[in-house]
Amino acid sequence: MSERRTIASALADSPLTGGEGFDYQPLAIDPDVKVLKIGGQSMLDRGRVAIYPMLEELVAAKDRHKLMLMAGGGTRARHIYALASELEMPTGVLAKCGGYVAMQNARMLQMLLAKHGGIYMLPDDFEKLPLYFRLGCIPIMSGMPPFSYWEKPSALGRIPRHRTDAGVWLTAEVLGASRVLFVKDEDGLFTDDPKKNPNAVHIPRISAQELIEQDLPDVVVERVVLEYVTRAKHCTELQIINGLVPGMLTRALDGEPVGSIIYKG
Ligand code: ADP
Ligand code: MG
Repeated sequence: MSERRTIASALADSPLTGGEGFDYQPLAIDPDVKVLKIGGQSMLDRGRVAIYPMLEELVAAKDRHKLMLMAGGGTRARHIYALASELEMPTGVLAKCGGYVAMQNARMLQMLLAKHGGIYMLPDDFEKLPLYFRLGCIPIMSGMPPFSYWEKPSALGRIPRHRTDAGVWLTAEVLGASRVLFVKDEDGLFTDDPKKNPNAVHIPRISAQELIEQDLPDVVVERVVLEYVTRAKHCTELQIINGLVPGMLTRALDGEPVGSIIYKG
């Protein structure tokens, strides 16, 4: 009788509060997937002029690569964060509300790519990715991680720290992709926001640790992602490219180090 209740396991006597995770190298579920973030404010909010040429490049590349698209939120997400903050909503409510905007953007991307196999997916459809790729589909989902009401408190105020950049990196990491691609509207990372500081200098390659230590006035991806890259098991490189420059996306998909690369040191 007692055998049925006693399953031997390495962690049976552990409170799971220390370093019980061992030093591990997790399975790479599908390392060939190219996870791409389509920027919210940087790309989608610019509408047709930015999106149509980018989609053309994606469609041309879709049979050479397993593409998975994830949408950012952008200006409408910033709007709801501001309004919800004024109404004294907690971080979790902001994360929940902001998530809908990225979802709207993902839905529109799906409609635009429907005739090329664009398929909208929810986090619960992760297990269907092999099927989608085998059918030649382009899975598209919101970049927002589904923490929603369970978003962690931030040290810096009410805005959720884990927004769509974080969701996209976390997706690439769990799938086992070694690089994740952020399609934005600048040629990558600079020493400061090039929109505000004309003297900002381009940084083609830098380690996440070094970038954290430099503590630049502003950065091109959510800062929390830099922290995670230092602990990456699979997704050790972020590539940030300018999706407004024709050909950049194709070159990045083909492995060229265009834009900027932030790597695990
Ligand atoms: P997305 O819409 O993809 O989330 P964001 O607009 O949030 O993109 O972030 C990209 C923007 O970050 C760029 O357009 C740029 O203006 C700004 N930015 C801030 N700091 C930097 C930096 N150090 N290097 C490059 N861009 C920066
Ligand atoms: Mg952003």
